[in-house]
Amino acid sequence: MTTTVEQVVSALEQRYLPELASDWDAVGLVCGDPSASVQHVLFSVDPVLSVVDEALAVGADMIVTHHPLFLHGVHSVAPTTPRGRVVHTLISHGIALYCAHTNADHARPGVSDALAEACGLGATTAIDPAGEQVGTGRVGDLPEATTVRELGDRLASVLPATEHGIRIAGDLDAPVRRVAVCGGAGDSLLESLDPAVDVYVTGDLRHHRAQDYLLATGKALIDVPHWAAEWLWLPQAAASLDEDMGDGGAGTVTTSVSTIDTSPWSAHIGRTS
Ligand SMILES: [Zn+2]
Repeated sequence: MTTTVEQVVSALEQRYLPELASDWDAVGLVCGDPSASVQHVLFSVDPVLSVVDEALAVGADMIVTHHPLFLHGVHSVAPTTPRGRVVHTLISHGIALYCAHTNADHARPGVSDALAEACGLGATTAIDPAGEQVGTGRVGDLPEATTVRELGDRLASVLPATEHGIRIAGDLDAPVRRVAVCGGAGDSLLESLDPAVDVYVTGDLRHHRAQDYLLATGKALIDVPHWAAEWLWLPQAAASLDEDMGDGGAGTVTTSVSTIDTSPWSAHIGRTS
């Protein structure tokens, strides 16, 4: 039995409904013949050339990434540009590319659910609901109270290692029970947080927004690397596809998760303790 690109796309879009994506986003199939057969799907955060090379090395004929290859209009996919080179390499090797971005952020389980699980949260609700059971970010209570420091240590132990590292703002010894999380860049949600939230875990927090939040609330912030937080979603998404299209499902697809750190941050100089 052969599984096709179209069937894999259909399975992914049952989990990550395209209509859940933000208006500005560009999700879906980027390249690949829908009728082509798929045997192995590689999951990655970024659609960059090193990941395409990894797909070739592991024998993947489809890549699923979180970030889109193209978010704005383009006039050329010439291989003289980095993204054009990705397109050419994919097509010349018969590898399909599919992106699940904000639809995977807003779905349940989705990107922020993986980060919530890494924090040890059980039941959560969306910080910014977009309908029943879906929305942006997650908030919930830890089964047992901890501290900002201990939660940071826990995240450091479960997130993939990065040069960027984890940054903390606020009192390291402050008690933590209620935790809000948002995979990726989450400072747009600072104003939406429940006042009962003890700490907010997200990425790409900017100076002024973080400072204003600290001054207004006295609560803590944990800034995790954007790439690492979203990487947590990859095993979850791969397991879902295994369930849908692998041995336990209707197909014969196998999956793997990229091991390449595609974060733009490649060095860390200065104080580390
Ligand atoms: Zn992201």
